[in-house]
Amino acid sequence: MKANVTYWLDETADRLPDKVAFADEKKEITFSALRAQAMALATRMLERGLFKKPVVVYLEKGVDVLVSFMGAAYSCNFYSPIDIEMPASRVNKILEVLQPALVVTTAELKTVFEQYDYHGEYLLFGEAAAMPADEQIVDAARARGIDTDLLYVLFTSGSTGVPKGVTINHRSVIDYIDWVTETFDITEEDSFGNQAPFYFDNSILDIYSTIKSGATTYIIPKNLFAQPVPLLEYLKEKKINTIFWVPSALIVVAKLKAFRNVDLSDTLHRVLFCGEVMPNRQLNIWRKFLPDVLYANLYGPTEITDACTYYIVDREFGDDEPLPIGIPMANTDILVLNDKNEPVAGDEVGELCVRGTSLSMGYYNNPEKTREAFVQNPLNPCVPETIYRTGDLVKYNDHGEIVYLSRKDFQIKHMGHRIELGEIETAVSSLEEISLCCCLYDEKHQKIVLFIEEELDKSYINERISKLVPEYMLPNKVIMLDKMPINANGKIDRVKLKECL
Ligand code: AMP
Repeated sequence: MKANVTYWLDETADRLPDKVAFADEKKEITFSALRAQAMALATRMLERGLFKKPVVVYLEKGVDVLVSFMGAAYSCNFYSPIDIEMPASRVNKILEVLQPALVVTTAELKTVFEQYDYHGEYLLFGEAAAMPADEQIVDAARARGIDTDLLYVLFTSGSTGVPKGVTINHRSVIDYIDWVTETFDITEEDSFGNQAPFYFDNSILDIYSTIKSGATTYIIPKNLFAQPVPLLEYLKEKKINTIFWVPSALIVVAKLKAFRNVDLSDTLHRVLFCGEVMPNRQLNIWRKFLPDVLYANLYGPTEITDACTYYIVDREFGDDEPLPIGIPMANTDILVLNDKNEPVAGDEVGELCVRGTSLSMGYYNNPEKTREAFVQNPLNPCVPETIYRTGDLVKYNDHGEIVYLSRKDFQIKHMGHRIELGEIETAVSSLEEISLCCCLYDEKHQKIVLFIEEELDKSYINERISKLVPEYMLPNKVIMLDKMPINANGKIDRVKLKECL
């Protein structure tokens, strides 16, 4: 039985030592080199006495990040990637929650990181990966690890302004990737085109399917996602046959009808997507140009290791029909519960809750938020059993498939990014000029709209809060009001504000 994802890498490196595992714009790495470098990093971590400790990976997106992830996994530590473009104040909030024991970075990036609230140890990637590994030390550590030890912590937006660290253990990833590779028949013949940032849960599918099956993942340069024709040319040139992207990325390609310029019918076999609603209007364009491709809508939050339901597109849909999120994955139970915590009947709307191995162990160092979302299964009064309440409202259609409807709260998906509107409001409220503010999402125009009472323009506000929140959270529109509408409970009247959109 495997208790650590790195046993997959051992097997694949033995079987396909010289095959390219991962490639970015600057370099590529074979499975044997990936294993050797990761073992070297793991050795350095263990020599420093680190075991089951949080390790931050602070590197530009690329192959080295993945080597570092594997280094942490081999040594039975757990990794947490921090985006090098993240504003300092948010990095500091993450550091406060995570209290890392080590930061893997480069000499150049170390000088940036030294400005943050961290005074611990560093491991410089280049030097550490080139040093010899001590496999005995690593094997001894792995033998002590168990499958419920953490593999990683991914931080997501938190409504109070403090990011939440979603913890995931080895067993959850092993379970999920076994399902992915079996369901989509992933083998060493396959090539992935990675879009997802490594701090986003969708990347788990690309990374670990590759390591398990011996496929190859090309890390697509970010700028190509704004240029659909070169993007499709890239897929063709690299012979990428499988993509797992957020719908926003697929929509850009569909809107500009880039397929007219590049024929991918002999190249692309699988188009998988997850992370937000995929509108049929755009999916139908993909289906028209590439009718023989397998399309699958995966659904799930970071808290359940990426995805928990799926729908393999098997029939025609009108442009205005919703695409189902489908049925539970293997070894996963979905409970759709109404307000009384009872299973819904017929097409009643309820909250999607998840039970199974895929569940996170909770938010790192945050028992309060953990207790809110990870709760006792109300249908099982007999033994302790946790379910995760996603906050997503869904219903069953006539085919017995689940259909996503909306959120229960103020969490949104904007250009594929998960955002708590409260986190933006907290940042805006910190400006001394602001007395009251409210953020809403204009779904139709895909805009984050900020309501304020002061005469301040968007560029001023965005410049100030860009030090607090990532660029994708900056409001796209600012509406100035004489007076913020207040409801009977004395709260900002969001319903009234919605009418202004
Ligand atoms: P994240 O944790 O970033 O993966 O975001 C999870 C949230 O994204 C879910 O709770 C849903 O609200 C939304 N989501 C994920 N996949 C889908 C999907 N296939 N269709 C609609 N919404 C989705």
